[in-house]
Amino acid sequence: MDGISCDRCGTALLVGANVRYVVAIDVRAAYDVMEVSRSELEADHREEMRALLKKLEGLGAEEAQRQVHCAFRFDLCPACQRNYVNAPLASAPTAPRRLEDVERAAIQAAWAASGREPARAAEILGVKKQGLARRMKRLGIKK
Ligand SMILES: [Zn+2]
Repeated sequence: MDGISCDRCGTALLVGANVRYVVAIDVRAAYDVMEVSRSELEADHREEMRALLKKLEGLGAEEAQRQVHCAFRFDLCPACQRNYVNAPLASAPTAPRRLEDVERAAIQAAWAASGREPARAAEILGVKKQGLARRMKRLGIKK
């Protein structure tokens, strides 16, 4: 997401190849167009709305938003782009990887998923916010 390194394998971009790739993922709640009848328009929906609001009470605004829409953006090197387009829903490569690359990829994914919110990214990773900041600095990941 920084345009400097591949978010999948950690390879420096534009060093060994003169091209890099950007993956933009947009995850939205799907809905189908409803046919609304006259009786549905005339019905009292207040109880239904109260129940819906009650379900939302326990959620923070960010979590409520995440249940409806999330957007991710990743930089890929040419090798990871080929792997990605061949199997976009597959998990990360299974070949052995350096621990530092795995850590970098996990942090970058959490950082993107959190909307660049340090407390949320730390929660996703199961670490303290200060620990995440230290790791990001050590790995050269920009906020
Ligand atoms: Zn890569």
